[in-house]
Amino acid sequence: MTNKIHEVLVLGGGYAGVLCANRLAGRLGASARVTLATATPDFVHRVRLHELLAGRPFPRRSVRELLADGVALRIGRVEAASLAARTATVDGAALPFDAMVCALGSAPTCNVPGVAEHAAGLANPAAAARVAGRLRTLPERSPVAVIGGGFTGVEVAAEIAEAWPALRVSLLTSALAPGLSDAGRRYLRASLDALGVEVVENASVRAVAADAVEFTDGSSLPAALTVWAGGFAGSAPAVDADWPLDGRGRIVVDADLGVRDAPGVFAAGDVAASAPGMESSLRMGCVTAMPLGAHAADNVVRHLRGEATRPFAFGFRVQCVSLGRRRGLVQPVDARDQTKPWVVTGRLGALVKESICRYVVGALRVEAAAPGMYRWPGGVVAAHRALPAAADA
Ligand SMILES: Cc1cc2nc3c(=O)[nH]c(=O)nc-3n(C[C@H](O)[C@H](O)[C@H](O)COP(=O)(O)OP(=O)(O)OC[C@H]3O[C@@H](n4cnc5c(N)ncnc54)[C@H](O)[C@@H]3O)c2cc1C
Repeated sequence: MTNKIHEVLVLGGGYAGVLCANRLAGRLGASARVTLATATPDFVHRVRLHELLAGRPFPRRSVRELLADGVALRIGRVEAASLAARTATVDGAALPFDAMVCALGSAPTCNVPGVAEHAAGLANPAAAARVAGRLRTLPERSPVAVIGGGFTGVEVAAEIAEAWPALRVSLLTSALAPGLSDAGRRYLRASLDALGVEVVENASVRAVAADAVEFTDGSSLPAALTVWAGGFAGSAPAVDADWPLDGRGRIVVDADLGVRDAPGVFAAGDVAASAPGMESSLRMGCVTAMPLGAHAADNVVRHLRGEATRPFAFGFRVQCVSLGRRRGLVQPVDARDQTKPWVVTGRLGALVKESICRYVVGALRVEAAAPGMYRWPGGVVAAHRALPAAADA
């Protein structure tokens, strides 16, 4: 490494960005200025957002308190990045970089008419808190609809039903948690049943109105409140180059998490998509965001030292779903995220899920105090395969 002080930018202060910045500050020391740019001073512990939405306590913590002292924090909106100028624009100011990691995460997405106007959501803590406020005002027996049968929709529906047993909660989905094992799906269904959640499968939502959800077959379901948990898209920034994006707004990265034709630029977390032809797909999740953030940091260090960057490797272990505060489902999976036939359920499942939620914040703090400590189950699956040189992502 030369004596130059490198400018290193991390965009996004979520799980991937905070872990990445802490690791970078520790590993690069005085040889670099590491700046983390993010929209809000509060850290959003997103895997608990459904708890806030249902009116549970949601402790506030700042991004600053999770960051190593060596990381400079810049609060502001990342508006664009220029590969030609090697800058990122934050609230109008151009911040230069020698290396950059984009970890801007994801946001709910939807093209169903009426969702933006009438469906409350999981976009951020303020939106979730608004739902909690509305739940408090609904008369008994009011119908509440949750759209989306993936893990997020299931967690939202279960949490509301447990916290507000006098409301009638429906979960509308094309298929209920289709990736689970038979045992997992049986437990999920039984738990939702016990909580009084009506599951409407094969639902094809056409539009959301102020007081109902309308289906493509012409029928409708009354809903005093509708929550959209139907899908998420990456928050890639505007760039002055032809960045490869997938169909969900995510930056396609190569095996090393690098962005094509952009030396020293990496992406991690929900905003990073595996290249086509990869060996195993990486689902969006905190479970992948943190290892991706850590690996991107290690590759930034290698890049600045003139060393070869290395491919990311990761092996899945479990999928976890909370079903209110008293039940949880832990679904063991193989390294490629394929389910095993058995599950851990009930209070033990809830305890495991709760421990993971706590561990996540603990791991960010540990990485601030002892950079390089964070480890993940790797070496099992090379989750990405390098893009062929001429591949069009
Ligand atoms: C209710 C719910 C429950 C979930 N449960 C689980 C779970 O149990 N397990 C699991 O693995 N995953 C879970 N997830 C998914 C998980 O939260 C995400 O995969 C994870 O947050 C991704 O981390 P990230 O760091 O990539 O992005 P994020 O956590 O989204 O962080 C991105 C950061 O970038 C900032 N940002 C975005 N755009 C800009 C901009 N233009 N300018 C400045 N800053 C910007 C954001 O404010 C945020 O701080 C859940 C998600 C939800 C909503």
